[in-house]
Amino acid sequence: MCGFALTGVVAATAPDSSEHHAQRVENAVPFEECLPGTEARVTDPDGEGRPPGRGELTPRQAARYHERLREELVPLRGQELQPPQTVPVVVHVISAEDGRGDVSDERVQRQIDVLNAAYSGSRADAAARSAGGAEPAAEVGAADTGFRFELTETTRTVDDDWFTGFDEHRDTIRAKLRRGGAGTLNIYTADLGPGLLGYSTFPQDYEENPDQDGVVVAHDTLPGGDREQFNLGHTSTHEIGHWLGLFHTFQNGCTAPGDYVDDTPYEREAASGCPEGRDTCPEKEGEDPVTNFMNYSDDACMTHFTADQGKRMVEHWAAFRDGSSQAGAD
Ligand SMILES: [Zn+2]
Repeated sequence: MCGFALTGVVAATAPDSSEHHAQRVENAVPFEECLPGTEARVTDPDGEGRPPGRGELTPRQAARYHERLREELVPLRGQELQPPQTVPVVVHVISAEDGRGDVSDERVQRQIDVLNAAYSGSRADAAARSAGGAEPAAEVGAADTGFRFELTETTRTVDDDWFTGFDEHRDTIRAKLRRGGAGTLNIYTADLGPGLLGYSTFPQDYEENPDQDGVVVAHDTLPGGDREQFNLGHTSTHEIGHWLGLFHTFQNGCTAPGDYVDDTPYEREAASGCPEGRDTCPEKEGEDPVTNFMNYSDDACMTHFTADQGKRMVEHWAAFRDGSSQAGAD
């Protein structure tokens, strides 16, 4: 969101990210923190491991992102917005010299399969387990968002410092490895340390920081990984939801406009595990959307996006990522 908040400031700033950051502070931008990747998925929403300055958006940040979406949609009014045929995906596997994090091609492909199941409204957990005989069954309320994903390239980098210090080196890593334009999904895998599962930039961030656009996930969250409760691949499902513009279902708690999506019930705070019948906004209609992909529940608990979330992702696609309607994108 920095791009939006800092229009006019950045032009006078060196592209070096540390100077850029200093400039932000001097200008007293009304965001506490606005580096790309403000949305993080953590293993325990109440516990340690939440990285400082990263995590949930403030109501003001969310409002600015939304405002920016509305602005971009004005010239598209009256058009029937469509999701892309398929989103090309480039996966960047960063691993250690001793082999840690060297995610196999087979697991990368299973991750893509999980995404396609999740975004088409099929039982994604079945795809994740890849039992072969598992019958994909439509989940009640699980929308087909229209988005499909296709792996076009996998890059492999062996570097101990990058693997264990992704955050420290992330600007360099992404600037070096990133492929394609606004409509190409770049996923980076590395060791993100305890607690942190992944994070993503928003479509609104692309214009300002095209090099940094993409999704970062802990390598052990891909299907078949060792991350207990979080190894069915839905960290990527969740982060790509942010990459396509969605907020958490608990954004703004019980207060309007919540997550800016009409058909997801309000929720006071993130869910963890898979609580049944939770209702943290009793004054609002509906139980908490615990099984929604944009929550913090366990992978096995997550089953769906809603129809309105699907529409909102398509709007973001048209506004920020569709190369055919945007100059400068591929
Ligand atoms: Zn998130």
